Amino acid sequence: MRGTCTARAYLFLKKTPLTVYLQRLSPITPLAPNYLQFSTMFRIISALRPDPRLLPATKPHACFSTLIVGAGVFGVSTALQLIRKYPNDTITLVDKSFSNKASASFDRSRAVRADYTNILYMEKTLEAVKLWKTDPLYRKFYHQSGLIWVDDKGIAKTILDNYRRLGADQKVRIASAAEVKGLYGGMFANADIEDDAEILVNENSGWLDAAKCLEATRTAAVNAGVECVEADVSTLAFDSTGGCIGIRTREQKLITADRIVLAIGAQLAKLLVDSDPDRIELHAGNRLIAAAITSTKIICSPEEAERFRGGPLFYHYGTRNSHG
Ligand SMILES: Cc1cc2nc3c(=O)[nH]c(=O)nc-3n(C[C@H](O)[C@H](O)[C@H](O)COP(=O)(O)OP(=O)(O)OC[C@H]3O[C@@H](n4cnc5c(N)ncnc54)[C@H](O)[C@@H]3O)c2cc1C
Repeated sequence: MRGTCTARAYLFLKKTPLTVYLQRLSPITPLAPNYLQFSTMFRIISALRPDPRLLPATKPHACFSTLIVGAGVFGVSTALQLIRKYPNDTITLVDKSFSNKASASFDRSRAVRADYTNILYMEKTLEAVKLWKTDPLYRKFYHQSGLIWVDDKGIAKTILDNYRRLGADQKVRIASAAEVKGLYGGMFANADIEDDAEILVNENSGWLDAAKCLEATRTAAVNAGVECVEADVSTLAFDSTGGCIGIRTREQKLITADRIVLAIGAQLAKLLVDSDPDRIELHAGNRLIAAAITSTKIICSPEEAERFRGGPLFYHYGTRNSHG
């Protein structure tokens, strides 16, 4: 068995009053079957000026244009949902490199689960998980492998309790170490799990072919009329009142639109500061941080691959280290 280790960055939005305000401003919908903390951030720029759709009809609906910067899971799924809902709109998706291997979304696999200690997360990800299983576009990339979560900090009980409170129909339970060692053909028979560990087993969770699904979703968006533009965005562009009217590329090209959606993941805080270093209210400040996760890829022999095929997601961590 051989392995390689890499680190990728992603964005973590801290829960501040502004976050709550933005959540109210922009009700979270399962546009992106993924982390929902990010979706609140997208609207920050639009929040600086009124959403044209909320204003009296000053121009025909068909004239609205939306520029989405960033073609990770959030940008691409937002583009697809918008073009499906408003087929006459002009939707433009900008990324410095489509299929960018440095983006958090473009990877071999991603876990799909609603197993979160935060009940709001769980509620919204339950909606997203349903889409992963049923939507013809997404379901072919989803593998319901099940999940095993070993923990000594009470996470399993909290998650189980959350499922009960939401009345969710889940094949989820707390199992003993002895039981888990017998699951999946004894795959974990030699695992070093404490005898008294409380282990969450959820047969409804799984994983997906992330990069392939991202490409398929972008293709669906393009087929529905979304335009893709490859450009490295250096700053936002503002009008004389300070409202955001578009973006400027590294080559100083100006691209404007009625609405600007930023979905550039871990780069967001930097772009906001670069756009106007003196405009503090625009900056992310301490509202979010870019975080990194190291990931290891293991190359299995054919025999090892056969042994692990069909294995579950396996988590072994507690509250302090958990990003959920
Ligand atoms: C190692 C790792 C493992 C993870 N595991 C899971 C998991 O199992 N399950 C799960 O649900 N989530 C997981 N996450 C989190 C999840 O992957 C991210 O939340 C999600 O992919 C973020 O998507 P995004 O669209 O916000 O950003 P990204 O996917 O990072 O996309 C941002 C895009 O913006 C573009 N961009 C950036 N700056 C510019 C610029 N200046 N101009 C033009 N384009 C720009 C980039 O090229 C990129 O394509 C994991 C994250 C990491 C890093």
